[in-house]
Amino acid sequence: MFLRDETIPVKVGDLTIGGNNELIIQSMCTTKTADVKATVAEIHRLEEAGCQLVRVTVNNQEAADAIKEIKKQINIPLVADIHFDYRLALAAIENGIDKVRINPGNIGKREKVEAVVKACKERGIPIRIGVNAGSLENHLLDKYGYPTPDAMVESAEFHIRILEELDFKDIIVSLKASDVPMAIEAYTKFSEKFNYPLHLGITEAGTLHAGTIKSAAGLGAMLDKGLGSTMRISLSADPVEEVKVARELLKSFGLISNAATLVSCPTCGRLDIDLFSIANEVEEYIQNVKVPIKVSVLGCAVNGPGEAREADIGIAGARGEGMLFRYGEMIRKVPEAELVNELKKEIDVIVESFEKTGEIP
Ligand code: SF4
Repeated sequence: MFLRDETIPVKVGDLTIGGNNELIIQSMCTTKTADVKATVAEIHRLEEAGCQLVRVTVNNQEAADAIKEIKKQINIPLVADIHFDYRLALAAIENGIDKVRINPGNIGKREKVEAVVKACKERGIPIRIGVNAGSLENHLLDKYGYPTPDAMVESAEFHIRILEELDFKDIIVSLKASDVPMAIEAYTKFSEKFNYPLHLGITEAGTLHAGTIKSAAGLGAMLDKGLGSTMRISLSADPVEEVKVARELLKSFGLISNAATLVSCPTCGRLDIDLFSIANEVEEYIQNVKVPIKVSVLGCAVNGPGEAREADIGIAGARGEGMLFRYGEMIRKVPEAELVNELKKEIDVIVESFEKTGEIP
């Protein structure tokens, strides 16, 4: 199996996907791409949340034309999502796109594929082959009867061979299905055969709550196997939520170096403070902290010090007050009303020091 760090590194703008690089978080705009103002505004919100690569649909000439202006106003690489129309791919490339998501086998005549590949080669732009269980080629549905992991891998291979015949290797592949076991098997089987970097995803995963669980189940299994160089969580929700979920998922596997982690207890009868509000407020606060600190918020002194020992900074509640811990050592007691603010101040001190020295003090 070709694991994350053994895949071919592929450049996308100033990022490198694959090889031993950190996994890249992607999302996709929900705006009409031709509406530059709305698209740029959404991309800025995504950037702020930690999105590193963003895709827009390029479904008409106006969308392709908008790429030039969008590119000027954003800071992360931009991907064009194209179905069938090679002219839109060429226009997107001409206008400065950083990556194209297109399936070469669906473009049509060979000259059209060659034109897209030539344009990508000239500008060093990679192509993502996006296999989707819901839109497999007819020849595969005829062969397999219905979407299966093998059919998905064969579809990817079909598109890969077209690019390889044209000596094009800057390829990233996704094999998405909304069925979790099918997606896991497809990605796993693909990785046993190819070392192109994988873009992970459970497609059409659902709403914020259900889709998060489904994505975590599917992508979690893949990440645990060492698969994936980039990922997108697909939710019927604000795409900023997709980025937040992706960051949380990567934190769970220790695969992200620029995110703070919160440990908080479920509470029980020992609780004497309003822990749910405190945990939510702290979570909100550390959302945009781009430093790998661990913060613990525990309801009482029974487990508080123990958990806090593992954390860089933490609190444990007591009656009407809380204890502030650093690496398990209590540094002071604080009234409940001031607890969150005091914790935030301590977090700020750690973040400031990390930004200066590159190390957690
Ligand atoms: Fe209960 Fe304390 Fe454990 Fe929280 S940390 S679950 S309040 S025992």
